[in-house]
Amino acid sequence: TSIIRAEQIEKYYAQPSENRIQVISPTDLSIVPGQIVALLGPSGSGKSTLLRMLTGLSEPSAGQVYWHEKPVATADMNVSIVFQSFALFPWLTVLENVEAPLKARGMEVAERRRRTLAILDTVGLDGFQAAYPKELSGGMRQRVGFARALVVEPEVLFMDEPFSALDVLTAENLRSELLELWQKKTIPTQAIFLVTHNIEEAVLLADRIIVLGRNPGRVRTDFEVGLTHPRD
Ligand code: ADP
Ligand code: ADP
Repeated sequence: TSIIRAEQIEKYYAQPSENRIQVISPTDLSIVPGQIVALLGPSGSGKSTLLRMLTGLSEPSAGQVYWHEKPVATADMNVSIVFQSFALFPWLTVLENVEAPLKARGMEVAERRRRTLAILDTVGLDGFQAAYPKELSGGMRQRVGFARALVVEPEVLFMDEPFSALDVLTAENLRSELLELWQKKTIPTQAIFLVTHNIEEAVLLADRIIVLGRNPGRVRTDFEVGLTHPRD
């Protein structure tokens, strides 16, 4: 059964001229436990728009998104998003950045400190607690982004072009580390939804690939890659 299921969702934007721009054509898709799904498509094909609808950040113009079969408007979704540009708070330390979502949820200090230190260790940031984002390389900053997303133990981890701002080698390292953590079930998430325009990245990471075509964003194919990444 699916964690998130979209039923015939579409998105159009109003224009001053009253012509509507259709960005996503009616689309069905589901996110199930145990899978890394890649959403692959060229720039402007509607990937971010689709991600925003699946995470409840934006309402579909038509159709419905379900969280455990409840409409998202009435559901308590437990998801996180990793952004291409990291989106860290520059005035907070690594520790404070990662702890922020737990603080926002009202978790008491000892428990949130324990969980924050554990996830920093998992993503290879042990010893960097007191550093500020500007003191870190791009790859290390994105590790903070991953830690902050994972610290809440999201059922679905969304990633919007998470490696695109990094140099090739750093991206490769981070990708393979993420895959290893996922396969060993070390990272606390049930499913990963990866937005990317990088075909190689999709093939390397995903169990399932959804391809968005352009004009207007329409799901062209939704296929299983095969049991390429069995989990222990
Ligand atoms: P991608 O993430 O694949 O690059 P986007 O979802 O960002 O694609 O955008 C898809 C299309 O929708 C683009 O043509 C973009 O300009 C348009 N678009 C996105 N958001 C809005 C909006 N709020 N209003 C009008 N057009 C938008
Ligand atoms: P809602 O469904 O809640 O109205 P939208 O899906 O319209 O939200 O999202 C609005 C977001 O899209 C804003 O963050 C805005 O900055 C961004 N946006 C607006 N116009 C465009 C555009 N032409 N291309 C890409 N993004 C856009």
